[in-house]
Amino acid sequence: MNLKSHLTHPVFELIRKTADRRQTEAFVVGGFVRDLLLGRPSPDLDCVVKGNGIELCRELCAEIGKRTGETPVLHEFGQFGTCKFEYDGLEMEFVGARKETYKPGSRKPVVEEGTMEEDRMRRDFSINAMAVSLNKASFGELSDPFNGLEDLRNQLVRSHRDPDLSFEEDPLRMLRAIRFASQLFFDIEAGTFAAIMRQKEHIGELSAERVTEELDKIILSPKPSYGFKLLDAAGLLEIIFPELCRLKGVEKRNGKAHKDNFEHTLEVLDHVAYAKGGLWLRWAALLHDIAKPKTKRFEEPRGWTFHGHEFVGAKMVPGIFRRFKLPMDENMQFVKKMVELHLRPIILAEDIVTDSAVRRLLFEAGEDIGSLMTLAKADITSKNREKVQRYRNNFAIVERKLEELEEKDRIRNFQPPVSGNDIMEYFNIPPCEEIGIIKTRIKDAILDGIIENDRGQAWELMIETGKGLGLSCPRS
Ligand code: ATP
Ligand code: MG
Repeated sequence: MNLKSHLTHPVFELIRKTADRRQTEAFVVGGFVRDLLLGRPSPDLDCVVKGNGIELCRELCAEIGKRTGETPVLHEFGQFGTCKFEYDGLEMEFVGARKETYKPGSRKPVVEEGTMEEDRMRRDFSINAMAVSLNKASFGELSDPFNGLEDLRNQLVRSHRDPDLSFEEDPLRMLRAIRFASQLFFDIEAGTFAAIMRQKEHIGELSAERVTEELDKIILSPKPSYGFKLLDAAGLLEIIFPELCRLKGVEKRNGKAHKDNFEHTLEVLDHVAYAKGGLWLRWAALLHDIAKPKTKRFEEPRGWTFHGHEFVGAKMVPGIFRRFKLPMDENMQFVKKMVELHLRPIILAEDIVTDSAVRRLLFEAGEDIGSLMTLAKADITSKNREKVQRYRNNFAIVERKLEELEEKDRIRNFQPPVSGNDIMEYFNIPPCEEIGIIKTRIKDAILDGIIENDRGQAWELMIETGKGLGLSCPRS
């Protein structure tokens, strides 16, 4: 098979010229080839060169500089024999062909110069071990030593080496197998999957960052529930994310059963994925019911309840983020807030939708109200069609009201119309408790629709409240 017509990016021609001039072989390998054959965009491009990859790369960068007037910045990693640069939106990595051998009991591979075949062999799966020649005589020709093309056609992730050995050498490959299956909606070949089940305990040897990078990719895949079910079936989920496994199962008492919260959580995550929710809203979907096992009670006559699971769940978010070495920044705060507020739109939609309840929701969610509504809608997974329809109709009312009230009262970015300083100056008082009382009163009056979000009306209420608290009004 020849893929010449797909190698349209000008860099391939430049690599060809440089490699031919140096009389060496160059190939584009791995993920880029796989994605090219699948018609998927690939953000990064790996090239393997016979001999010294770094020297070829230096020449290539100089050549690009000559052509475009801008020489890319080359990052060299001498000890690994690799180098990287960015050109025209592509992350390029070059490496000399190598083989890796693992000494028993050591996790660090011994890396030596190797043949192209050995380089193919060290790669993780057959679909990632294909290469395309960039030399003139064979430009665009596919080299596929382990039938990766056939596996692509059969939609299979398959280890072309002894999978037990491969996973023991580098346990990350087990997560990569599931991540590729989830991203591409592929099966994992039976022998490869059985080896993951056997080698699962090795997952504990990986750093949190490497695990999280793969987990994020599973979460970002088109139907993440598939990846999570594979993680669960392989026994990996129990090790890396026990809180999720605890959501599993249905308990029945006095004829009353609750739903399986693991299945439900994955369904909500899929809904958010279909709605094109970003990474953090997907994390929020994954964690929205995480405290249900902790808060589960059976109360007659209601049956199963999970009172306060949204607050307990929100409190669990920082610990989970810390363990996964996820950023402890505004993204974590966002996830926490989404978990804490996830029931609010539903509670609102169950009731008569009042203006003040909608204003309060807008006030608390602020700029994230759109995300919260996406999550709340995704949370409706009932099998009862009538119930689902009723919720949908009520959500439509809530959304209409949100728009109406936002336009009128500008609650989303609420700034108090009267500040603490205004109050101190007017009543000539130092910082004290009364200031907070007055501010809360004004905020509540606006949210309850007693006054508008207007400085004049707020000013009057400030004076009235101050008087009620026994403060003297100098100008009245
Ligand atoms: P993506 O870029 O979409 O994450 P990819 O397959 O390109 O997927 P990279 O991390 O970019 O993954 O790696 C490029 C290539 O290097 C892979 O296709 C594979 O051939 C090889 N590779 C990467 N990681 C491993 C690993 N842990 N074990 C063996 N080979 C690997
Ligand atoms: Mg890649």
